[in-house]
Amino acid sequence: MGVDVSVQSESSGRGVGEAGVWSDHEHFMRHAIALGDRGSTAGDGGPFGAVIVRAGRIIGEGWNRVIATRDPTAHGEMVAIRDACRGIESVSLQGCALYTSGQPCPMCLGAIYWARIERVFYGFSIQDAAGIGFDDHFIHEQLARPPEQRAIPEIPLLRTEALEILEAYAANPGRVRY
Ligand SMILES: [Zn+2]
Repeated sequence: MGVDVSVQSESSGRGVGEAGVWSDHEHFMRHAIALGDRGSTAGDGGPFGAVIVRAGRIIGEGWNRVIATRDPTAHGEMVAIRDACRGIESVSLQGCALYTSGQPCPMCLGAIYWARIERVFYGFSIQDAAGIGFDDHFIHEQLARPPEQRAIPEIPLLRTEALEILEAYAANPGRVRY
């Protein structure tokens, strides 16, 4: 007789492209912020936590572990992406949203594109983080320059030999596309 509204409200059909419920977004963001706080309090790294959500459910999470693991790539978003991909056994996070305490740096943004994450929510901005000495803003400025004007030179070398493995890979019909 009665319509079960709880099923509707809890159904996981809500796509990340839709507006969603802001209280849900805030809930996931608070979780990301809490992870960042926990990690930085423990001395693992900076105050960066991240959560990956698909269809209203957390499928991966992480916090910055750069200091703890002596890994400059162990940003919260990277750790969360690895956690989510391991969990769903896929290299694609299509249909997922990422919540991060701080706006992604260029490395994490690249990983977000590679992983096909569809939407990003962030707490504090790159400018906010730059204010206490994180390099993100500098890297963004570098990327906006032509390669020859950047601080780190990129030098072409042995293109012909390198092209051999690229062509062999392209010719392999069994390769997995991603
Ligand atoms: Zn990052």
